[in-house]
Amino acid sequence: MLVQIAGITSVPPSFLPEPVRQSHVFQTAANSYVLIVDGSRIYAIDAEMAAQLRSDPGNSTHLLEGLSLLDPDRPRIAAEAPESVPVRSLSLAVAQKCNLACTYCYAQEGSFGSEPKNMEHEAALRSVELLFRSASAGESVNLAFLGGEPLVNRPLIRDCTKLAAQTGKSQSVRTNFSITTNGTLLTPDDGRFFEEYGFAVTISLDGIGEVHDSQRSFQSGKGSYARIIENVRPLLAMQRQMQVSARVTVTPGNLRLKDTLDQLLALGFHSVGFSPMLHAPSGRGEMDQAALDEMLAQMIECGETFERRTALGERYAFSNLATAMREIHKGTHRPYPCGAGGGYFGVSADGGLYACHRFVEDPNAKFGDVWNGVDPATQKTWLAQRHVHTQSPCSGCWARYLCGGGCHHEVIHRGRPACDYIRGWLEYCLQAYVRLQASTPEYFA
Ligand code: SF4
Ligand code: SF4
Repeated sequence: MLVQIAGITSVPPSFLPEPVRQSHVFQTAANSYVLIVDGSRIYAIDAEMAAQLRSDPGNSTHLLEGLSLLDPDRPRIAAEAPESVPVRSLSLAVAQKCNLACTYCYAQEGSFGSEPKNMEHEAALRSVELLFRSASAGESVNLAFLGGEPLVNRPLIRDCTKLAAQTGKSQSVRTNFSITTNGTLLTPDDGRFFEEYGFAVTISLDGIGEVHDSQRSFQSGKGSYARIIENVRPLLAMQRQMQVSARVTVTPGNLRLKDTLDQLLALGFHSVGFSPMLHAPSGRGEMDQAALDEMLAQMIECGETFERRTALGERYAFSNLATAMREIHKGTHRPYPCGAGGGYFGVSADGGLYACHRFVEDPNAKFGDVWNGVDPATQKTWLAQRHVHTQSPCSGCWARYLCGGGCHHEVIHRGRPACDYIRGWLEYCLQAYVRLQASTPEYFA
């Protein structure tokens, strides 16, 4: 028989789909559950039903039809890729240059393999215009500043922000601002500016002290950790409208995630998140299978602390799990990993439009420029080719609508070495979700 858990609808046994591809059975110490892949619905089931689902390797459509009869309104992924998506998010490479020399940098010390340069004023102003061109009152847009190191071109960041805020206000469009910075050039005055405009500030930090320094040094070879912490402290103390988070790029050299998480949270970061290094132009720092296995174990250790602390009513800002809880709770499912080439583009210093900030200067992912906008034919082809249904082996993977097929940039350059890691993490997130639903339902209120 089926069991209903708080906030999750139960279904009669005869309407359950079969496993493999269309469903995924998972287990906690207390119960068994099934995820219905297309629709991201979770149902509690008994052990007998779980065993039945697990033992049937087929993909019977009549059971799926049974389920859709039961819940005909559940959102489903359209079989066809969309032909176009309007621009709602831009990241500006305001400086294609950097003062650090990180071992794994995807942007080749910020220049993306071309001449180091700052973005011209005209290209930046046109970017803001493009961002608001088709946005209607009540909608939201996102303007991000990246590089290289964006604070190398501080005046342009400020001019663009003021213009976008003004335009958003006059069009009644909500404008969200973010910046990803290495933190070495930050000043208290930057903090006041980011606070005024409610920025999401992400600081790239790869660990504590020497661990960070071994991956992120100045071009002279000197470590950057001490400078960053000195610079970022005043911003951490200022956070009201602004949120200052840390992003850790994980390589085989900095796998002690739990220690890193606890120490960065103790410094006062709003949240801390981890991302595996899967592709570097230099090949340095790329994660192999053993390192991904270790990372998964560490992520779960961080997650278990998140669960314990959340159940106690405490905030433990491990952003990977907090985001996963929010998305699973919303029933998010998607045929792409991100908005790249859809509603989101990266703008190069000379005004070129690329699939995202990592594709800047890549002619195979160029969609036009900020003067003429997105080329519709290029976008249509990209959306069709990058749809998860066209990706192998994603089209048969139970995690496809939670994962979306993996970062396009990494997949194109390295393939999919991290699928076991992704599925292992998602499996844990599903378990954590049903446990939190039972122990702390108010967390989702
Ligand atoms: S990238 Fe891997 S985990 Fe993600 S959907 Fe594709 S096969 Fe599944
Ligand atoms: S393609 Fe990769 S790097 Fe670019 S936005 Fe998507 S997930 Fe991020």
